[in-house]
Amino acid sequence: MLPANPMLLAKGMLLANPMLPANPMLLAKGIDNGGAGGPRIDGDPDAGTDARDAEAPMEKRVIRCGLCRHEITSPDRIMSVSGSHRHTFANPAGVVFEIGCFSDARGCVNAGVTTMEFTWFTGYAWRFSLCGGCHGHMGWFYQSGGDSFYGLILSRLIQ
Ligand SMILES: [Zn+2]
Repeated sequence: MLPANPMLLAKGMLLANPMLPANPMLLAKGIDNGGAGGPRIDGDPDAGTDARDAEAPMEKRVIRCGLCRHEITSPDRIMSVSGSHRHTFANPAGVVFEIGCFSDARGCVNAGVTTMEFTWFTGYAWRFSLCGGCHGHMGWFYQSGGDSFYGLILSRLIQ
C-alpha cells in the first residue's frame, strides 16, 4: 500500500503521454512542480546552455565556502555515493569529518599527490580539495578510473 506520490504521478503522466498536444495548464503545472524545491530529475548535461532561464534568485542557489564565501558548488551537484550523500569518517588521527558528496565543485582547487592510502571510498584514490578563494581545506577529490566526485566537509560550507 504505497501512498500516492504526486510528483511521481505527474512525471508518470508526462512520460505516458509524450504526444499530448501542448496544454498550457498542464505545462504550467509541471514547471511549477519542478521549481518548487524538488530535486531536478532530468539531469540534462546540456542544462548549462539554458542558464538564462535560471537567473531568478530562487534558482540561482549556490554553496559557498564558510570562510571566504567563495562559490564552491551548487545544490544540483549533490549526489549519493554508496547509497548516501552524507558520510561520517575519521581520519587516521581520529578527527571525525561529516562529508557530503558532490559530482562537481568548480570552486575548488585540488592539491597534493593522488593516493589510495586510508581512502574512505574503496577503489577511489584521493587528493586534497581546497577552496579556490582562500585555500581553506574543503574536503577531498576522489577518483577511480573515469569516475570522480568531491567529498566536501559539510560544516565548512554555507548556502
Ligand atoms: Zn574560502
